[in-house]
Amino acid sequence: MMNRRAFLTVTAWATASVTLSAQSPTSSEWGGPVLDIHSHLRQGLDANITHMEGCGVTKAVLLTRGTAVEQVKAIQAKYPNRFIWSASADITKPDAVEVLTKAVKDGAQGFGELKFHVEADGPELQRMYSLAAELNVPILVHFQEVPHFEGEGVWATGFKRFAAMLKKYPKTKFIGHADAFWANVSADYAEKESYPAGPIKRGGVTDKLLADYPNLFGDLSANSGNNALSRDAEFTADFLARHQNKLIFGSDCSCSDGHGAGTSQSNNPPAARMNGKCVARETLTILKRHTKPAVLRKLTWDNGHKLFKINA
Ligand SMILES: [Zn+2]
Ligand SMILES: [Zn+2]
Repeated sequence: MMNRRAFLTVTAWATASVTLSAQSPTSSEWGGPVLDIHSHLRQGLDANITHMEGCGVTKAVLLTRGTAVEQVKAIQAKYPNRFIWSASADITKPDAVEVLTKAVKDGAQGFGELKFHVEADGPELQRMYSLAAELNVPILVHFQEVPHFEGEGVWATGFKRFAAMLKKYPKTKFIGHADAFWANVSADYAEKESYPAGPIKRGGVTDKLLADYPNLFGDLSANSGNNALSRDAEFTADFLARHQNKLIFGSDCSCSDGHGAGTSQSNNPPAARMNGKCVARETLTILKRHTKPAVLRKLTWDNGHKLFKINA
């Protein structure tokens, strides 16, 4: 916990640098401002903003533990209007409801990301789907059926059955993310690899669910999102146009400078195609190439603002 004196020091320092950071958000190589809805909290007050400035991101949703309120507040104080907060808690523990309810009271505008070794329709996640509806915040879930390394295990399994959850919780705003969500854009995904290659077989589960359920949204982040959009140019252009109100840009990038330094997809050997690259830049480049400016604006700004109820 930060004591009051430390907080005041941080705030004073923050005020001094506001002028500098306030100049950058409008200038963008992407043709407009960009919101990144998948940005994990980094060590230190400046590391997140360094990445954002490097890759042309204006605002970011910070994903953190529900107990990180002091850190989030310090960053928000130093960089006003740049950070929105989404909180997570260990959903296998009985106090998860309490932790997340308090986080929302403290300013969190979303749940997630929730990444746990449970079934996507198991009791632990269902409790969260229900709470997200009650508190009226979106919930971001990591779906993955194939481990990235020995011993990793799998996360929120059973995405192919997910229609039942979308039906059962119509008031919950679900944000799909990660390997299984994106591999299932292709109808032939057999859960054998993390990132399938080759042309998309039309009629995949993810594509159908996005079309059929108004309460499902797609987070374009990570190697998984980028890989899905890199397989089949014709599919990509059509997919982005059809779901232009449901898809949202996020990076989930861990490169340090917004240009690919360090590691962009940590702890993930199958994502080696991203080595030396910034996932944010790679995915924004694809989105820009395959959409009209009005659609790009929705994917990189409007949709995320609506979903997380962010003031523009
Ligand atoms: Zn994830
Ligand atoms: Zn990056």
